[in-house]
Amino acid sequence: MLLTDPSSENQVRSLPIVVQKYGGSSVADVAKLGRVADRVVATRRAGNDVVVVVSAMGKTTDELLRVAADVGAAGGGLDFEPPRRELDMLVSTGERVTMALLSIAIQARGHKAISFTGSQCGIITNDRHFDARIIEVRPHRIEDEIARGHIVIVAGYQGMSYRREITTLGRGGSDTTAVALAAALRAERCEIYSDVDGVYSADPRAVPSAQHLPEVDYGTLQTMAESGAKVLCAQAVEWARRAGIAIYARSTFDPVVAEPRQTLVRQLEPSSQQPRARAVVADTKIVLARLRDDPAQPALPMVLDMLSTAGVTIRELSTEGADTTMVLSVLNAPQWGATRTELGRKVPAFQLVPAVALVSLCGGGLTDDPSGLREFCRLLEELGAPAQLLVASPLRFAAVIAQQHAVAAQQRLHEAFVAER
Ligand code: ASP
Ligand code: MG
Repeated sequence: MLLTDPSSENQVRSLPIVVQKYGGSSVADVAKLGRVADRVVATRRAGNDVVVVVSAMGKTTDELLRVAADVGAAGGGLDFEPPRRELDMLVSTGERVTMALLSIAIQARGHKAISFTGSQCGIITNDRHFDARIIEVRPHRIEDEIARGHIVIVAGYQGMSYRREITTLGRGGSDTTAVALAAALRAERCEIYSDVDGVYSADPRAVPSAQHLPEVDYGTLQTMAESGAKVLCAQAVEWARRAGIAIYARSTFDPVVAEPRQTLVRQLEPSSQQPRARAVVADTKIVLARLRDDPAQPALPMVLDMLSTAGVTIRELSTEGADTTMVLSVLNAPQWGATRTELGRKVPAFQLVPAVALVSLCGGGLTDDPSGLREFCRLLEELGAPAQLLVASPLRFAAVIAQQHAVAAQQRLHEAFVAER
């Protein structure tokens, strides 16, 4: 909002803009939504302009996807793939419910508020459905409403393609909305609220001794997110890094204080980045696949096309001679079951290894001393979960192991490499 600066009559100054994002568990029911409204109002009263990005309430997105699958299966059998365009039309409604309810809750508290969909706030994406990428943000309507003194509520996770189609940004994509808006609005800061008070050295649900990280640099967090950590979405971290936006990850359920327990995500000085392991991450939404190709009639190009259409992303891929091994993420492939059946039919040489998890150790300089990798493998073997695929780089050791050992592996690797003694 523009204010007249009392010290010089003719000058106008604007309030700092704070972008806040609230995840699904923070807005899961009416009572929680009310607490979020109180928090937003408190931020406003503290002298900020506030833009709030919301996720769908609780598990709404999963529920909508289940209904879509049921409707498809009832008419077309289990292998029917609901079109990704229609899935976008469907799941984008989840965030719209939250934005309208939060706007009502804030207005009920006596403050001016207005809600907008992603397309209304000028979030322009490429034309992929279900895992679109933001290519441009033109936040004119938000700026106008801020100037009119409104708190602006934005439906996260969605945008509009340059062909004017409604798109969504991939699971967890409300984080990306928040960071992209913070950058476009030149916000003072971007606060990401969830049910945990920041980033930990492992998922605290799997590793009770996981340590809270008060600060983490973009690179480490990006490696963690790309390895499957759910704390922040990888695209959001990448965007924050490029735009130099500091992210404050906090818990919605902590009291409103000036310095809550939180994780500050930012660029850290190289001197503070000792070569060491920082975190353990596990991902179970992955698939290990092997392809022995026929050089006379290579199937790899067709396999890649089919994976692309289904929204499967490649985590790792290496080819030697006729043999290709890949680790695939199926997080944004809601029709993966149908794609898998079709791949099996068209490319018999494409073999899937069932029930695996990818366990990663993230940090920096990890390969400086190869004995670290030796220890990593030894610990997994000791657990009866030998690496079926092993990838090592300075930023990350990763192993594909049997899914049933994922929790034990995280605990053991955390204790051996990350925990401070
Ligand atoms: N509601 C979407 C999801 O569950 C987006 C988000 O929460 O960020 O993936
Ligand atoms: Mg969600």
